[in-house]
Amino acid sequence: MLDVARIRKDFPILDRMVYGKPLVYLDNAATSQKPRQVIDALVRYYETYNANIHRAVHCLGEEATAAYEEARARVAAFINAPSPECIVFTRNTTEAINLVAYTWGRANVSEGDEILLTEMEHHSNLIPWQRLAQDKGATVRYIGLRDDQTLDLNGLENVFDARTKMMAMPHVSNSMGTINPVEKLAGEARRHGVMSLVDGAQAAPHMKVDVQAINCDFYAFSAHKMLGPTGVGVLYARRELLEEMEPFLGGGEMIRKVTFEGATWNDIPWKFEAGTPNIADVIAFGAAIDYLNEIGMDEVRAHEMEITEYALQQLGKLDDIILYGPRDSQQRGGVVSFNVADLHPHDIGTVLDRHGVAIRAGHHCTQPLMRRLGVSGTARASFYIYNTPQEVDVLVEAVKAARKFFRNDTA
Ligand code: PLP
Repeated sequence: MLDVARIRKDFPILDRMVYGKPLVYLDNAATSQKPRQVIDALVRYYETYNANIHRAVHCLGEEATAAYEEARARVAAFINAPSPECIVFTRNTTEAINLVAYTWGRANVSEGDEILLTEMEHHSNLIPWQRLAQDKGATVRYIGLRDDQTLDLNGLENVFDARTKMMAMPHVSNSMGTINPVEKLAGEARRHGVMSLVDGAQAAPHMKVDVQAINCDFYAFSAHKMLGPTGVGVLYARRELLEEMEPFLGGGEMIRKVTFEGATWNDIPWKFEAGTPNIADVIAFGAAIDYLNEIGMDEVRAHEMEITEYALQQLGKLDDIILYGPRDSQQRGGVVSFNVADLHPHDIGTVLDRHGVAIRAGHHCTQPLMRRLGVSGTARASFYIYNTPQEVDVLVEAVKAARKFFRNDTA
């Protein structure tokens, strides 16, 4: 059991009031809050060893380089990557996926080839592939949804054909919370000689991820959704792939030797980290990983399952609520998307805000999925380690207040 009261003390922002009410932060799928330990790591870097990395011959540069590379090693261990060289730092999940679509994709996808996605993609794992397909004359196909809003994997072995080159999928849907069986999907892709990329933006912060057990080729996620700062993303890739792939951006740091005629590339992973990286935020991300490790990812997951179940149960008591995603908490992460019959999700979000409750309302960067569900958007509450059942109660009361306000009823 998490000691949530103790955890909450580490998050200064949780003490603030919004419109005179205590903040109830339930927009963790968009970005998480940051503990004091992460903020302190940032301040410590800027106050005591701020310097550029990898090329300095002075003490500060060496300390900064060591801290930056230690953070990479911690990220590798966190997802059980075989070595730190398999970890490339990017700006976010979006950039990590674009890196793959641009470098691996441009070299390996040709006219008539196919890229396989799912109907629940975030735009981050959709647009890069659509652009690649348009440029190359390839096609994009989608694995559909069942009525329970899990992926329809009937006949999975038949979805691949000789022209399928890449299968990319979300580990956990940001809009519905559905957890996808990525081990099974990546395994099936491998059996058919198809590459796999897992968008782990909503999984790495919330559950134990083992990229070797999943056996995918690429795995992408963002620091800011897992207690770390904004501006840092992670691309895990199999070593051989990173070695084969051409660089993404060109400039300093990613080169070995440069002449007026051309250049050769640095070793991995630095070949993919052109220019001065986001040193401070990567180092502070290391502190976020330490924080999560100290709690334990199994504990994080157990807490979120409990709170999600409670939220589904309490919201489910409202007669005119529509809840999305699978009902079985084993099959879903800490995301609860809902609509209240005739209310617009933005209206719900606005009233909730006045009660101090921060949620997300809209299409959640999944417009095709919303169309597939037949809605323009949903209201979405998403939980993390510092959320409590009492906060769920505040959410439910605020939803009731929204119904009352817009309908002028007394329910
Ligand atoms: N993929 C999923 C499933 C997400 O939920 C998000 C962000 O909400 C992203 C990708 C994009 O993450 P970022 O904005 O950090 O690039």
